[in-house]
Parts: sequence; structure tokens; C-alpha cells
Amino acid sequence: MLALEAALQRILEAVPRPRPETVQLPEAGGRFALESIDAPMDLPPFDNSAMDGYAVRSEDVAAAGAGQPVKLALSGRIAAGQTAGRALEPGQCLRIFTGSPLPVGADAVVMQEDVRLPDHSGGNYVEVVERVRPWENVRFRGEDVRTGSRLIEAGERIGMGQLTLLSATGKSSVSVGSQPLVGLMATGSELREPGTRLEPGQIYESNRLGLAHLTRAAGGVPRPFSLVRDDPEETRRALEKALEEVDYLVTSGGASVGEFDLVKEAFAALDGTVTFWKVAIKPGKPFVFGRLANKLFFGLPGNPVSSLVTFLLLVRPALLRFQGARDVALSASQGVLGAGVENPGDRRHFMRVKLNADGMVWPCARQGSHMMSSLAGANGLIDVPPGMRLATGCPVSVFRWD
Ligand code: AMP
Ligand code: MG
Repeated sequence: MLALEAALQRILEAVPRPRPETVQLPEAGGRFALESIDAPMDLPPFDNSAMDGYAVRSEDVAAAGAGQPVKLALSGRIAAGQTAGRALEPGQCLRIFTGSPLPVGADAVVMQEDVRLPDHSGGNYVEVVERVRPWENVRFRGEDVRTGSRLIEAGERIGMGQLTLLSATGKSSVSVGSQPLVGLMATGSELREPGTRLEPGQIYESNRLGLAHLTRAAGGVPRPFSLVRDDPEETRRALEKALEEVDYLVTSGGASVGEFDLVKEAFAALDGTVTFWKVAIKPGKPFVFGRLANKLFFGLPGNPVSSLVTFLLLVRPALLRFQGARDVALSASQGVLGAGVENPGDRRHFMRVKLNADGMVWPCARQGSHMMSSLAGANGLIDVPPGMRLATGCPVSVFRWD
């Protein structure tokens, strides 16, 4: 049986190269940059004021104090978006606002709380009652971002910070990897659509929606297909039709060893290459991975928890890499076990846990792969090695899906 890392490596090797697509910035959030992007301009683009106040020459107010106001001629004002137009002369000041360009000749801004406007000044002069150091309250051109410095690395996901930087430097579009169209198909003659009536022995299908949600979170576009009964010909036809339409096909159910587990054979009958079957993890041992031309096929086990866990561990990374993502692992948070766990089996057990904001990790009580009750309360997985007991208080990494 294949180890998880070996399985993941084979899958990632099979992922086709990303297809570049130019998107407008408002649509770029959550996508992956295909090229590194360097700053086309300085940020801030010009020296400007950090305060609402008065632009001055610091030497003019070097002697200012509460009992010793310094009188400066008020020679105009620069609103944000304007420029001074002329240089500041000795003995003068200019009314200035946060973000307004610093006028030539000024080397500091006195905040308005340190300036008095005497009633009898007629608006022609002010009194400064506090000194400023040279360049105090000035934000320098390029102190945040220098022209040519790296804004985004290829393979980085475009999030809040990246969108802010790109728009601040005037970018309006960006080259990203296209999103994979991901077919989601549930197989099993016992399955019925929610909202319909169940006959004895039947159950509601509950895998596709969770898988669609995880697909979207990984940047893919889910395409659900109709339920497929456990019939060899029907299964083969359903796979064939779906594979024509999508980049990735993800099925659930029918991947194990029972005589109704038909998915692997149906895929092989289409001349698909089964790259491997079975991975040494719990839940999720029966897992088929195959290729057909440039399409990738993932046959997940039908047990709801198994299908979701194998998706997180083995399909999600492939969806991300398809879009050009550099990092494809689930993000890990460190925590401390609130209760002990044990894996008496011979496969790594990915147990559902709830990591709380206080860093405590609470293993779910029901870990069976058909037990859905624990899914809603959980937010991650811990990796418990075979034959291992982890005691209360043990530090653990939680692989998050939220
Ligand atoms: P299988 O992998 O087809 O042997 O299915 C394993 C278990 O998961 C069986 O109890 C199935 O009834 C159940 N199962 C399979 N597919 C689904 C599904 N889409 N939704 C809910 N349960 C499922
Ligand atoms: Mg089945």
C-alpha cells in the first residue's frame, strides 16, 4: 500500500501545467499569480504629510514652546490631491492635511494641536507652540515600497494584502492560473437526492455538497453530476460523459473491494490509466487515482468522512497546483490535546478535532468513517501514527480545513 507522501507525489507529478488567464483585479481574489510582480512605482509616490497640521521649516520653529509661540505667515493650503505650486519661504507655513504632498522647502509638519490661530490674525498667520524635529510627521516617497521591489511571488495566492498592494501601485489586471472544472459524481444504488422520499434500504446522498464546498475553497469550480447506480455499463457511460466535460473527475463510492465497487474497472475500461489504488491512511484506504489523456481521475471512498478526508489530503493539493499554487499543504496550527487519543491500527489515522481559539485541541468522540455527526463540530485533522498513544497535554499540529 502506498504511503501518503508517495501518493501525493504521484498525483502532483500528473497535474498539467497551469493555463494562464488574465483577470481584472476585482476578480483576482483567491486566485494564484502565475508570474512574479515587481512594483512599477514607489509607495508613497511622493513625500507627504502624516498629520493634519502645518508644513514648516523645522529650523523656523526650533525655539517654539508653550510660553514661547513662534509666529509664521500662513501662505496657503494644500488639500489632499493638490500640490503647493510654489516653495515654502523662511518664516512661512502652509496648511496641510494627511496625505497632502509636502511642499518644497518644508522639512516637517507641526500637528494642528500644537498650533494656535489667534482671533486677531485674520487668517494671515499662526502661532506654533511646540518644536518639531527635521522630517517629523513626514512620510517619505518609497519608504513603503521601492520601484522594482518584489510585490508578489509566482505561485502566491492573491489575498487582501496582495489586492491592496497591486491596486496601490496602479495595477488593474493580473495573470493567474485558470480554475479547474471539477466533476463531482456520487455512485451507489442506495443513494437518493435529499428532498425525495426514501424507500427501505436507501440513504440520502451527502458527499457531493461537502466536496463542492471544499472544491470552491481550493479555487476549483464544482460541476455536480447525477447519481450513478452500481451497474458496470451505467458507471462506464457516466464516467465517459463526465470526463469529456471536466478537467478533474472526482467520484465517491464504489472504490473498494466489494462486487459492487465498479469505479476502478469502469475507468480502466475507458482506457484510463490507474496510477495507484489504496493509500495507507485511515480513513480513506480505498482511493483510486488515474489519468485519461490530460484529465485526472480521483475515485474516493464512499464513506462520507473518508471521501472528505481523502479530498483534503490528496485532491485539494492537485486543484491548487493546477492553478499554479506554490504551497499546496493544508495550513497547520499548533495546539495542545485536551484529551488523549490512541491509534491501535497499522495505518496513520487522521482524526477529526476541534482546535479552539485558546489553542486547546478536542478530538471528536466518534471517529468512525461513517460518523458525520462529528464533522460539523470539527475544524481540522491530527495525524496519529500507527500504534501511537498521545496523552492529554501533548502538543499536536492541526491541519485546518476552515
Ligand atoms: P462504498 O465506498 O461505495 O462501499 O460506500 C461506503 C459507505 O458509504 C456505504 O455505507 C455507502 O452507503 C456510503 N456512501 C457511499 N456514497 C455515499 C454518498 N454519496 N453519500 C452518503 N453515503 C455514501
Ligand atoms: Mg457503494
